[in-house]
Formats: sequence, C-alpha cells, structure tokens
Amino acid sequence: MKMIQKFLLAFILIPSLGCSQTNQDENTKTMTVSKNENPYYSKTDTTKLKLSNVEWKKVLPEDVYYIAREKGTERAFTGKYWDSEGLGNYYCAACGNHLFISDSKFSSQCGWPSFFEAISVKSVEYNKDATHGMIRTEVVCGRCGGHLGHIFDDGPPPTYKRFCMNSIVLDFESIAEND
Ligand code: FE
Repeated sequence: MKMIQKFLLAFILIPSLGCSQTNQDENTKTMTVSKNENPYYSKTDTTKLKLSNVEWKKVLPEDVYYIAREKGTERAFTGKYWDSEGLGNYYCAACGNHLFISDSKFSSQCGWPSFFEAISVKSVEYNKDATHGMIRTEVVCGRCGGHLGHIFDDGPPPTYKRFCMNSIVLDFESIAEND
C-alpha cells in the first residue's frame, strides 16, 4: 500500500515541478506611456530631478522604468543601439539629459552600446554597486539619477573606460535629422 502511495505522490509532483518555472517574457512588456507624456523630459532644462519612483512610474514607458528606476539590464545584443554607428547625440530617455556623442561610441562587441567618455563631467554620476556577487561601478544620469549601466576599465584610448549602457534608457538624435 505504501508503495502505491509513493507512486501516486511522484505522479502528482513530477509534472508540477516541471511547471514551476515562470513563463514571463520580457518582450511582452508594452510601452504604455510615450515620451510626449513625460513632463520632466527636456533637452534644455538641466535642473536636477528628485522624483519618487511612484511619480516616475506615471510618466515613463514600462521598459524605460524597469531599467532606469529598477536598475534592470536589457539582454545583450537586443538593444537598438548596441551596433549602431549613426552620427548624433545620445540623451537620457527618462529626462532628456545630454549624455554622450557618437564620436565617443565604439564597437565593443559586448552586446550593449559602449562609449569611452560622457559628454561632460556632470552629465553622469557614479555609484558603487556590490550586487550579483560583483563589485562594479554603476553609472546614473546626472540629472534624474536614473540607472544607465556600468563603467569598466577595459575601454579604448584616450580614456580606457567603457561606459556599458542600456539602449532602452538612451534616446538617440541623429545629426542628419537636424539638417
Ligand atoms: Fe536622466
């Protein structure tokens, strides 16, 4: 009788273990808020923003919120700028702060857009990041404090730095578009 009970228990448990993984698909996240609905977005206003995540959630698209406010990371080789080569400027997708110019972008083949320097000293800020069993330096937007990515010491000259950024929190404006 006990053998039968064990057999029945196994029969019930095995399929349920197989279903224990969640089937959340990152791609199903939809952009519910457009940039035009974000009143804090400005390419000219450099005033620092001190907003709560509750306020950011109201004005940011879901994917931008996930990276900028929850320190998420887009999957490598999936972002729209990891291998882009257009001439232009990169702004913070959350607040419009000018972050990088295409002249400082280089092909790192790491799967994320990489730059060897920021447009100015104040355009970004740095925080120590000890998550995921690593000691890294987080890069955040100098205006809104949103998470952008990390910086590493394996970049090319002249700085030998690699700003490893998430495409989702970058807003690219082509120089050609302004002509
Ligand atoms: Fe910002």
